[in-house]
Amino acid sequence: MATDPSHRILFEPLRIGPKTTKNRFYQVPHCNGMGHRWPRTMAEMRGIKAEGGWGVVCTEECSVHPTSDLTPATLMRLWDDSDLPVHELMVNKVHEHGALAGIQLVHNGQSVSNYFSRIPSLAPSPAPTETGNSTQARGMDKQDIRELRRWFREAALRSRRAGYDIIYVYAAHGIMTLLYQFLLQRFNQRTDEYGGSLENRLRLVREVLEDTRDAVGHDCAVAFRFAVDELMGPEGMHKAEAEDIVGTLAELPDLWDVNVADWGNDSLPSRFGAEGAQEKYVQFVKSLTTKPVVGVGRFTSPDTMAGQITRGVLDLIGAARPSIADPFLPQKIKEGRSDEIRECIGCNMCTSGDYVAYPMRCTQNPTMGEEWRRGWHPERIARAATSDSVLVVGGGPSGLEAALAAANRGYDVTLAEASHALGGRVLGETALAPLRQWKRLSDHREYMLSKQTNARLFTQSRLDADQILEMGAAHVAIATGAVWRTDFTGIHHRFPVPVSAPELIISPEDIMSGTMPGGRVMIFDDDHYYLASSLAEHLAAAGIDVLLVTPAAEVAGWTHFTLEYEHIQTRLRELDVDMVCHHGIGGISNGHVRLECVYTGASTPVEVDAVIPVTARNSRAPLFDELMTRQAEWADHGIRTVTRIGDCLVPGTLAMAIHSGHEYARNLDAPDPGDIPFRRENDFDTSRIWPEFTS
Ligand code: ADP
Ligand code: SF4
Repeated sequence: MATDPSHRILFEPLRIGPKTTKNRFYQVPHCNGMGHRWPRTMAEMRGIKAEGGWGVVCTEECSVHPTSDLTPATLMRLWDDSDLPVHELMVNKVHEHGALAGIQLVHNGQSVSNYFSRIPSLAPSPAPTETGNSTQARGMDKQDIRELRRWFREAALRSRRAGYDIIYVYAAHGIMTLLYQFLLQRFNQRTDEYGGSLENRLRLVREVLEDTRDAVGHDCAVAFRFAVDELMGPEGMHKAEAEDIVGTLAELPDLWDVNVADWGNDSLPSRFGAEGAQEKYVQFVKSLTTKPVVGVGRFTSPDTMAGQITRGVLDLIGAARPSIADPFLPQKIKEGRSDEIRECIGCNMCTSGDYVAYPMRCTQNPTMGEEWRRGWHPERIARAATSDSVLVVGGGPSGLEAALAAANRGYDVTLAEASHALGGRVLGETALAPLRQWKRLSDHREYMLSKQTNARLFTQSRLDADQILEMGAAHVAIATGAVWRTDFTGIHHRFPVPVSAPELIISPEDIMSGTMPGGRVMIFDDDHYYLASSLAEHLAAAGIDVLLVTPAAEVAGWTHFTLEYEHIQTRLRELDVDMVCHHGIGGISNGHVRLECVYTGASTPVEVDAVIPVTARNSRAPLFDELMTRQAEWADHGIRTVTRIGDCLVPGTLAMAIHSGHEYARNLDAPDPGDIPFRRENDFDTSRIWPEFTS
C-alpha cells in the first residue's frame, strides 16, 4: 500500500549540518542495558531499527572518560581506541540500511560514584554523588576543566573515526550530565568564570560545542541535547532561562534535541501523561533557531507526528520507546500500514534495563534484546514446515502472542478463551484508570489475529481436558494465567496470615471487575510493582478512604526502575492515600487488622472495612496438570505436545508473559535449543576482532 498523503511529510529528507537524513524518523539516544558489555546484542538491535526505516539511529550515553564510570549500569564507553570496535560494529549495522548513526557523548559528573574505575567523581562544586553511598564528588579546578574539554575533543575525534554522522553534546536529564550540572545553579556554586551568571554557567557548554565542531570540522553534524525545563520552577531549569540559552546558542549546533528533565519527566509513563506531553515545553525552540529541532513524546500516531511538523513544533520526530516497541514503525507508516504499528504502552519496563543492568526488554515487543542472541526479528519469523494445528487455551497476553506468532509461522491456530472477551489480565488491569493505555497489548494482538485466515478466536469457550483431547490439535498451549492469592502469602509472609473475618478480604480481581468497597480500605502490598498503587489510585479517585501498607521501606519500590516511582508518590499523596511502610499483618479479625512492625514485631490495631492483598499469584495449573496425567491418551487424539506458557507456567510481568508466548511459537517444531537457549558474547574480545574493522 502507498503512504497516506497526509503522512508523506514524514518522509521528506532533511539536512542536519553536513549530513542529510532520508526522513523525519529519529531514534534519539536511549540506554538499553547492553552497551559495551553485550555489544553484538546492542548493535543488532540498533541495526534492526535502521532496517525498520528510522532515518537516524543513535547510541545510548557514551562515557568519554573513566571519571564518568557508570558501573553497574551498562552503557557505552569511548575512553580510548580499544573501545572503537564496539562502536564500529554498531555504526556498520546502522549504515547498512542507509540510516545516519549518532553518538551521545557524556560525562556524568556528580551523578556517578565510579565503582569500576575508583577515580574520584567530578562536579562543578564539591557535592555528594547521587548514588547515596556516602561518596562525594570533587569540585573541578581549571586544570580539570581543560582535561574535560580534551576528553570530549578526543572522544569526538574517535567518534568520527568510528564512522558516526552525528556527535552529541549532552546537557539534559537533570543530575545525569556534568554539562547540565554546570548550567544549574543548585549544582554550580562556583565563583569563577564558570559559575554565577548564566553566561558563566553556559561557558563550558559553549566551549565543548565549539571544541567538538573544531575537532570534527564538517565531517559530522554536532547535536546539542538540552532539557528546556526541569518542571520545578525557578529552582531548576525553567522557561525564561532556557529561552536565553537557546537564543544564545541558537545557530551553534547543527541540531537541537530538546526535552524536559528529569528522565522520569522525559520518558513519562503513560499512567502520568499522554502522547505529545512535551509539546508545551519545547515548542518555543523552533522560534529561536533556524537549525532542525527534534523532540520526543511517545509518538505512535502518524497523524500526531505529521502534525508536529506541519504545525512547526518539531522538524524531526524523536522516539526512544516507540522505536523499541516497534522498530518497524516508519516502514509501516510508509507502506500505509499504520494500523499494524505495535504501539508503545508507556509502561517503562524498557528503562529498567538501565537501572537493573540487564539487556533491555519491552512489554510490547518480545524480540527486543533477542535479535542477536536468539536471532529473533521483530517482523520476520520462520515459516513452519507443516501447517499443523495449534490450540491455545486462554486469551491473555501469553495466549494471544503465542497464537499470533504461531499463525505468522503458518500453523492452523485456534484460540479458546473462557471469558466474554480477549485480553486476560490485561482486561482487568486496564479497567483501572491508571493503566488504560496498556490495553494496546491485547488490542494489537487481537487486531493482527483478526487479519489472519489461519487463526480462529473463540470467547466464552472454557475448555476442559476432555474437550482439549477431543479437539486433537497437534500442539496445545495452556495459557490459562494465574489468580492473586488472598491468604497474604508472599515475600514477607511465607505462610498464610490468620484471618477470622474472611468477609473483609477482597481480591485484586474483584476490584478490577468493578467491586467498589465502602468505608476504609486497606491494600497490603508485598508485590512492590505497579498494581497495589494502581488499585489505591483507582479507589481513592472514587472517593474511597485508602490505607496502603507494605512490609518494604517504600511503596512501589520496583517502580524506581520504570521511572514511575516519584509520580506515584505524588499522585497517592494528592489523593490522600495513607501509607504505612515496614509493616506486615499479624492477623485479621472482625473489623480489625493487626499490623506488625517487621523489625520489632510491635503490633498496632487498625480499623478497616475491607482488605485487598497484593502479594503473589497462583498459576491456574489444574488443566495442565490433568492433561499431563493423561499423556497416554494424547497420541490417540493426534496431540504431540502440551506446553504451559505465560502466567500459567510462572506468574510474572506482562513482558514475561508475552515473551513466553512468543518463545513458545518460535520453538514449535524447532531443534531443541539445549541448556542455554541463546548465544552469549563471551568471545567478544576486541583485540581479536579488531582486524575485522576498518578504521
Ligand atoms: P497470561 O498473562 O499468561 O496470558 P492471563 O491470566 O492474562 O494469563 O490470561 C489467562 C486467560 O485464560 C484468562 O483470560 C482466562 O479467562 C483464560 N482461561 C483460564 N482457564 C481457561 C480455560 N479452561 N479455557 C479457556 N480459557 C481459560
Ligand atoms: Fe513502551 Fe513499555 Fe516497550 Fe518501553 S517496555 S517501549 S514503555 S511498551
